[in-house]
Amino acid sequence: MASPEFVKKLGISGCGADLSCLVFPISQMPLAFFPGHFIPKNLTTPPRPQRLYTANVLTGRSGERQAITMDFSPSKNQEQVKRKARRFVEEHVLPKADKWDKTNKFPMDAWRELAKAGLTGIPIPRKYGGGGHDVVSYVLAVEEISKGSAALGVTLAVHTSLVSQPLLWFGNEQQKMHYLRPLAQGRQFGSFCLTEPVAGSDVASMESKATLKGDHYIIKGRKYFIMNAPLASTYLVFAMTDRSMAHRGISCFVVERDMPGVKIGKIFDKMGIRSSLASEVIFDDVRVPAESMLGRAGDGFKIAMEALDCGRISIAAQACGIAQASLDAAIQYSKTRVQFGRPIADQQALRWMIADMATDIEAARLLTHKAARITDIGKRHTKEAAMAKLFAASTAVEAARKALQIHGGYGYMTDLPLERYYRDAKITEIYEGTSEIQRLVISNDLL
Ligand SMILES: Cc1cc2nc3c(=O)[nH]c(=O)nc-3n(C[C@H](O)[C@H](O)[C@H](O)COP(=O)(O)OP(=O)(O)OC[C@H]3O[C@@H](n4cnc5c(N)ncnc54)[C@H](O)[C@@H]3O)c2cc1C
Repeated sequence: MASPEFVKKLGISGCGADLSCLVFPISQMPLAFFPGHFIPKNLTTPPRPQRLYTANVLTGRSGERQAITMDFSPSKNQEQVKRKARRFVEEHVLPKADKWDKTNKFPMDAWRELAKAGLTGIPIPRKYGGGGHDVVSYVLAVEEISKGSAALGVTLAVHTSLVSQPLLWFGNEQQKMHYLRPLAQGRQFGSFCLTEPVAGSDVASMESKATLKGDHYIIKGRKYFIMNAPLASTYLVFAMTDRSMAHRGISCFVVERDMPGVKIGKIFDKMGIRSSLASEVIFDDVRVPAESMLGRAGDGFKIAMEALDCGRISIAAQACGIAQASLDAAIQYSKTRVQFGRPIADQQALRWMIADMATDIEAARLLTHKAARITDIGKRHTKEAAMAKLFAASTAVEAARKALQIHGGYGYMTDLPLERYYRDAKITEIYEGTSEIQRLVISNDLL
């Protein structure tokens, strides 16, 4: 609670001295409310300035019980996870990321180091082999890792957000103990099998089906563009159990790699994120016990959408990482490259590019962290996740383009990582729902 004098000095009145029930439009928010911001001398310094502004970011209404606190500084624990990820990147990723990209090879050694560092199950409770951290810590780590290698970033993001988290939320105790532990500990990989050759954005048009025969389901179908599939031992597979129910007839199964009928098809040769692996997976009359179902019959669409809500936040973090790596490279290069007798950083045209990149990255990061924070307090975050992914993806594409432009001809060559950032950035506008689909999700929420 703020002192009455403090409230008076700010010239705020209306609901007593407890500032936590006030809602300010951000543009009118007193400067002193921002952590680390200059506080004018004539104001009494509040005890915890960064905690003063409490508003319901979800509804914008005051007086709501589940208000979230706007605190832009990471907690000690979040900072520790971020530092650990940064150390891992410096040691195991930066020296090799270009080589991985050029050889199109998944860096298994780096994955093992990631597991050793306890970063393969960051938001999964310790009980199930994870780090027991919050989602904000997780997105901070995904951004750091993606700064070094967006391919490793997405491998981790799919593994964690699209497989481990749905298992945590929808799995029974036996499924969690059996599947989640080895995934969270990084001893196994997970894959999320939703997309099909005929069913991309329109998930409900899927052709895969699962037919109940006694106490088993028989799964038949073909999944496309499945990240991590050639490495995975656990697949979350979505298939129709009742076609008459359209999307409500989709169910989700936990399928093991060594079950008869599971086959890896074509491995895709991608434009970017080349050291990650995406392939076709064929389920040729795969017989799975009825208890392999995740949740109940017909829960599949809900499970997929909730997984994607979290997955999109991690892709937004991946995009922030690519964008930040691009900006860092652009700043460094523009200060050292001399043309017309002075560093190109002296040119206003380039300074504006750098200012725009930095501003967009900051905005993308704030959207991403807000969506992560809302997830942490257990609130619905569909719109926020879609906004974060939409904005961060276009920021990454634009930042990589500008950074390459600032490097001129050198940026176009494969000696530097700029062309890799440019190729890697594009995918963030496509997977886990294209940017058009994110706009659809956001507008559906608003209209
Ligand atoms: C590298 C990579 C990895 C992937 N990993 C996975 C994975 O691990 N698991 C998985 O299940 N899937 C994965 N995917 C699939 C990915 O999620 C889909 O590619 C994506 O959702 C788009 O589907 P689509 O490619 O079939 O495009 P389509 O749905 O055919 O869309 C084509 C175009 O039409 C637009 N469009 C479609 N419908 C609408 C609409 N209603 N309004 C406006 N525009 C529309 C799209 O935005 C797009 O521009 C991956 C894809 C890639 C490329």
